[in-house]
Amino acid sequence: MDIDLSADDLAFQADVENFLDSNAYKPGTDYMAWRSGWFAKAGEKGGWDVPKWPVDFGGPGWTPTQHFIWQKATATRQTPLDLPFGPVMLAPMLMQYGTKEQQERFLPDIRARRVNWCQGYSEPGAGSDLANLKTSAELSADGTHYTVNGTKIWTTAAHMADWMFCLTRTSSSGKKQDGITFLLFPMKQPGVEVKPIITLGGAHTVNMVHITDVKVPVENRIGQEGKGWSVAKGLLQHERTGIAGISNSIVALEKLKARAEGVKKGTGTLLDEPGLRTKIAELEIDLMAAEYTELRSLAAAASGQAPGPASSILKLKGTDIQQRIQKLTMQAGGLFAAAWGGKKHGPSFARDGMSGYLASRAYTIYGGASEVQKDVIAKNVLGIAGKKGKSD
Ligand SMILES: Cc1cc2nc3c(=O)[nH]c(=O)nc-3n(C[C@H](O)[C@H](O)[C@H](O)COP(=O)(O)OP(=O)(O)OC[C@H]3O[C@@H](n4cnc5c(N)ncnc54)[C@H](O)[C@@H]3O)c2cc1C
Repeated sequence: MDIDLSADDLAFQADVENFLDSNAYKPGTDYMAWRSGWFAKAGEKGGWDVPKWPVDFGGPGWTPTQHFIWQKATATRQTPLDLPFGPVMLAPMLMQYGTKEQQERFLPDIRARRVNWCQGYSEPGAGSDLANLKTSAELSADGTHYTVNGTKIWTTAAHMADWMFCLTRTSSSGKKQDGITFLLFPMKQPGVEVKPIITLGGAHTVNMVHITDVKVPVENRIGQEGKGWSVAKGLLQHERTGIAGISNSIVALEKLKARAEGVKKGTGTLLDEPGLRTKIAELEIDLMAAEYTELRSLAAAASGQAPGPASSILKLKGTDIQQRIQKLTMQAGGLFAAAWGGKKHGPSFARDGMSGYLASRAYTIYGGASEVQKDVIAKNVLGIAGKKGKSD
């Protein structure tokens, strides 16, 4: 999609590209030092380290077009690894529900990427039906702390996290959603045991986390006791908007086209195959529609609104597009893709194609499964009554 850029937008685009190019990682240098330096310099530009934070909390106050320019530029250039749990997911909830003390305590470390967070929502018996969670938090008789016991599952990056934001049950009476409390606690302490789960693609990104008699001071509770469900739902909207990955899909599709053009087929190239061309054209059309939806969401964010249930549309469509691109990339490798993980055969991209395809199976599960997003859209966007699931 091409949007008309004003002279100011073009100047901004040049500034962004210049910043990214001149602060690119130099091979052989210390990655972690580059990473923290990069965020510090982005902060000095006026909130470029936290593009979506409100101005009052140090964000840049960009227009939707400026966000769009930033996303496109960062999708095609190397930026530091930045997990969303702290800056994208927890931070807006601290701003909305946290006390001034909690904001001052946690936001600076999140902003500087000094502290890594993980998300303790899902449990063995509570995925889509998240409100069914059982991890208990019992308030001490003197009211100073909770004792937390339970098991979380599929916890991404728990093995690298310093802190967890965790949904706990403080009451079992009444509606399931009403007894949930949102707590924060450090991961590196006795009683927190992280066990790796290896996924289909062979990667270790998710974990099982056993929590045994972990004491959490009441100062680490976000919002009121029993009112954690509102915090949980608000956070999921920010998570879903981020998962959509529209800019990355645009880049991935361009890459796929370039790769297919590099593979000789008969008198032409793989890109001349009518079947592949049709699928690429369909993806380009869907991507354009998703980009417009993302722009609407950016416009809402720029005017200070929460992502809202439209984040489910972005999550549903964005992850479908990502999976289709991954599948096509894997198929473009032909039989050579099956040799992934071993010696490289055929086109150089064939091996990555399979691991990317396998990893992409999870996109339509995490952040709330696609079926659940359809329920949320039916109920909260279209106004059609639906069944309750993770997040509505
Ligand atoms: C790679 C990965 C990373 C993850 N990272 C995290 C994390 O960091 N933190 C965290 O808390 N969780 C995480 N999750 C968990 C994720 O949010 C859950 O897996 C997801 O919500 C689905 O829950 P479930 O696995 O229990 O499946 P279930 O809820 O048992 O669903 C099974 C199937 O039933 C369908 N289904 C369920 N309910 C309905 C309904 N009402 N209508 C129609 N169909 C329905 C689902 O769509 C799905 O296809 C991660 C998951 C994966 C795969």
